[in-house]
Amino acid sequence: MKREGILFVISAPSGAGKTTLCKEVIDILPNLRHSVSYTTRKPRPGEVHGRDYFFVAAEEFRQMVEDGEFAEWAEVHGNLYGTAVRTLEGYRANGVDVILDIDCQGARQLKERYRGGVFIFILPPSFAELHRRLDSRNSDSAEVIQRRLDNAAGEIRESRWYDFIIVNDLFTKAVEELKAVLVAERCRASRVLETVGELFEI
Ligand code: 5GP
Repeated sequence: MKREGILFVISAPSGAGKTTLCKEVIDILPNLRHSVSYTTRKPRPGEVHGRDYFFVAAEEFRQMVEDGEFAEWAEVHGNLYGTAVRTLEGYRANGVDVILDIDCQGARQLKERYRGGVFIFILPPSFAELHRRLDSRNSDSAEVIQRRLDNAAGEIRESRWYDFIIVNDLFTKAVEELKAVLVAERCRASRVLETVGELFEI
């Protein structure tokens, strides 16, 4: 008997390094996948439909909302983003653990919907460092960077209700910490007993 897949929900302000961290642990740990979201945002150069996101038109997204196809959805920086119920249920039923890289509004919706979810927040070491990282991307205007910094304050306040907080100061250390959280959650007694409890009559 397989246990259900675990939902690891990861949020962070833009520039905290969340996406790179998630990719790294998915490469290291077995039986862990990234949940591909739907979005109305246009693809960036190099992004692939079905791998990075499912890129859809606003009408299609709205229809999916109406049909109840999303486990959560939200408007982020002017675009719509959502996680399909089908994606999550597929992984959960097959015992595959899944990482969801989503914003705080979506994370809150999942907190109400799934009891066994694990909520992890990635913090930058400081505002000054966040500013520096956003600047060094070289792809955004000063106005866009300022908007992201303004948004970051609100997002960081949300970190209070998450189960774990990882400060991404040194990347290798943050990877170790994230990996440790994931591995420890896999060993949580209630999850292990789901699969082997009967064998030992405990
Ligand atoms: P980006 O457009 O830079 O890929 O993502 C912008 C923000 O949208 C990030 O904070 C990301 O975590 C969030 N996001 C990505 N997919 C989803 C989703 O399915 N649901 C929600 N609520 N947020 C998402």
